Amino acid sequence: MDGDQSNQNVVRFAPPAIGEAEISQVVEALASGWITTGPKTALFEHRFGEYVGAPAALALNSCTAGLHLALVALDVGPGDEVITSTLTFAATVNVIEHVGARPVLVDVEPDTLNLDPCRVERAITPRTRAILAVHYAGHPADMDALTALAQRHGLAIVEDAAHALPAAYRGRRVGSSANLTSFSFYATKNLTTAEGGMLTGSSELIDRARMLSLHGLSRNAWNRYGAEGAWFYDVVHPGFKYNMTDMQAALGLAQLAQFEQRQQRRREVFARYDAAFAAVADLETPVCRASVDHARHLYVLRLKDGALPGGRDELIRWLKQRGICTSVHFIPIHLHTYYREKYGYEPHDFPIALDNYLRMVSLPLSPALTNEEIARVIDGVTSAVVARATLAAA
Ligand SMILES: *Cc1c(COP(=O)(O)O)cnc(C)c1O
Repeated sequence: MDGDQSNQNVVRFAPPAIGEAEISQVVEALASGWITTGPKTALFEHRFGEYVGAPAALALNSCTAGLHLALVALDVGPGDEVITSTLTFAATVNVIEHVGARPVLVDVEPDTLNLDPCRVERAITPRTRAILAVHYAGHPADMDALTALAQRHGLAIVEDAAHALPAAYRGRRVGSSANLTSFSFYATKNLTTAEGGMLTGSSELIDRARMLSLHGLSRNAWNRYGAEGAWFYDVVHPGFKYNMTDMQAALGLAQLAQFEQRQQRRREVFARYDAAFAAVADLETPVCRASVDHARHLYVLRLKDGALPGGRDELIRWLKQRGICTSVHFIPIHLHTYYREKYGYEPHDFPIALDNYLRMVSLPLSPALTNEEIARVIDGVTSAVVARATLAAA
């Protein structure tokens, strides 16, 4: 699909894996006469729920929408505090602002870069209502420790599982608990519907989130306009417009049917990177604890201090010159203007997130990348580090 000549030699960061099955199922949805939320969305919810073992599932137009609805469904609002990680995407924290609550950022564990339960405990106040746990890069957060804290202090847990399909913690799939858990199907994520998300949790909370996801109507459009529908509806809350379309659900169903093979390829690429970089003294490969199954969404490589004079930025430039796209996950929330100014954060308030942010680079990872492309990435990274080591030794 690389029609663009100028892109011919570029190793893209996270190209979507889209095949004939996806294309024909979306076309079929278009031709079916029902394009927005309908039977395909219902089937996608069912199949996805089955796959992760969720009590109930609600398809949405983004993971951000799911996180927002989770907080609204839990009645989190002004005067409340929600504890979350500073090392996450803006959406995780923006939704806390959207409901008028106060985000309380905490630092991460140095190995997994997940929310540190000890720091969460110290951040709990009488106003704390929820812990918003991010499963960073696909490695589940320490859920036993976070659940124990939540139970002791009467807090809800919301999981940002944008990276965590299909991750498991002590043999339990992320999304299978009664916690509200939000998955992302954004274009770069492990399973994509171009844009989309899925909220899982107890059927009681998912029922409430479903009502909130479609204007707060007492029944959805499909029920209203379908064969057995009626014209009557009732607004029971000023809700949102967060529903998924059947076009997206068709794409999601096709992706889900091939998901295991695609994940197998992610595991292969991850293992290739690990094998190539584990023995390089200046590099730190991602950690995977024995208690978890890692979803292998991001391959976050860390440079050791002094590995390159120009540090991580120099590595990114070096790779870019060789046509290799990379990214950084994430610029910590407390460094962004809005949060820095509103809450008066200093960069060193969260020293572990800051230090790791400065040393990290996310390498290309997608089932759509070839072995040759992966070999080019490995060669690019090792040549940068080894060339420097050789120069330094001379
Ligand atoms: C991608 C991502 C989101 C947002 O997902 P959308 O589906 O684009 O709303 C939220 N949190 C994290 C950690 C993400 O990486």
